[in-house]
Amino acid sequence: MVNPSSAARRALPSVDHLLGLDAVAALIAEYGRPLVTKSLRALLDERRAALASPAAAPASFSEPEFIAKCVARLAEEMQPSLKPVFNLTGTVLHTNLGRAVMPQCAADAVMAAMTRPSNLEFDLGGGARGERDSHIERWLTRFTGAQASLVVNNNAAAVYLALNTLALKKEVLVSRGELVEIGGSFRIPDIMARAGVKLVEVGTTNRTHLKDYASAITPRTAAIMKVHTSNYAVQGFTATVAETELAALAHEHGLPFIVDLGSGTLVNLEDYGLPHEPTPRETLAQGADLVTFSGDKLLGGPQAGLIAGSKDTLARIRKNPMKRALRVDKMTLAALEAVLRLYANPQRLREELPTLRWLTRPLADIETQAKRVLPHVVSALGSFGQAQIVTCSSQIGSGALPVDTLPSAALVVSGGENSKRSFANQIETAFRALPAPVIGRIKDGAYQMDLRCLDDEAEFVAQLTQLKI
Ligand SMILES: *Cc1c(COP(=O)(O)O)cnc(C)c1O
Repeated sequence: MVNPSSAARRALPSVDHLLGLDAVAALIAEYGRPLVTKSLRALLDERRAALASPAAAPASFSEPEFIAKCVARLAEEMQPSLKPVFNLTGTVLHTNLGRAVMPQCAADAVMAAMTRPSNLEFDLGGGARGERDSHIERWLTRFTGAQASLVVNNNAAAVYLALNTLALKKEVLVSRGELVEIGGSFRIPDIMARAGVKLVEVGTTNRTHLKDYASAITPRTAAIMKVHTSNYAVQGFTATVAETELAALAHEHGLPFIVDLGSGTLVNLEDYGLPHEPTPRETLAQGADLVTFSGDKLLGGPQAGLIAGSKDTLARIRKNPMKRALRVDKMTLAALEAVLRLYANPQRLREELPTLRWLTRPLADIETQAKRVLPHVVSALGSFGQAQIVTCSSQIGSGALPVDTLPSAALVVSGGENSKRSFANQIETAFRALPAPVIGRIKDGAYQMDLRCLDDEAEFVAQLTQLKI
């Protein structure tokens, strides 16, 4: 007796036959022959495997159905992997969601730098070779009071480069209370080791005194470094040494004093009603020879590491061959210059810089938006769950100001017959599966969407009809 499933397997069309169909020719035109061939093969293999399984109830082969499956698979395969999402986590500078969101002017500048030749390293005045850092140096020196500055790929690279230049094969003193780890594998001790620098820990986790530093200085010491403990706070019985004292001690011994600020905002955040965060200007005025900070944290620009300090020190750093290896791309420079230009007008900064706009967004404004959005979420949930408005706390994120939170409003979803936790997970998954994925958070066992950073409300609401729970 003929096995019906093996007969069905033999009856499947060949890849060549399928590739010759008109409908497939259109797919080849759009997606290219290799990808279409691969998809057809994979689908045929799956069908053969299904027919071979004893449980298979082989439906008859339909060419149009098969092609439709291929279309769906190709569309899926060509989906961009990196795509916009809604950050409703309540963390404004969310490292996993790309940290700072940039203003349109930065996007425009990047577009121009990407699609046209530019004077990246060309001095338009003299017609000779120029410096790529020159485009941002004039702004950075103006905003920090430093004599010179440069930019590399991120703050981790900035710290690495500074240490590798100033202290290779020598010792650098750091307080035990400042040996920070930043999410995503940046650890001060590891970076120091890779920079070829010997870390000398001074003091204790909670208390470090000036005499701890002073007694650790030897002929092998090359620098004193202070690391801004940006993503945690040591509270209670604590002591740290002020920058001015550390600078004085370092200079007494002819050593540079380096400060890794982490976030490093260029404005006084108190002017915008936010908690104070040290600025490069203050830190340099307190005697630091060099400060390093990120471009995509509170500064609100692209991923970058900024180094500002004295002319001599910066000249040494510029000569380090690793500067070339860590240099930034023209897109980064274009975005950074556009963002820095906004700082020229501190009055308008709040409106123009998304990071600052979100950090300073008034609670009443978020609540009003929550009231507008709520009915749409309720109707998308249908009988499956309920939503209501709650007050919550947003975080600044990316290590900045770890203990300070901002009052905000969130939509919280409740319901479900299963346990509260698995219901929250189900809701979280459904929102994450939307065309522009919505990333909320689970707090106290419930799914919560903090609306502080919801800019494109219309898109958010429009796609709710596609929510599949
Ligand atoms: C964030 C941070 C870093 C790392 O900066 P990236 O720009 O993410 O490389 C280093 N030091 C401190 C204190 C930080 O807060």
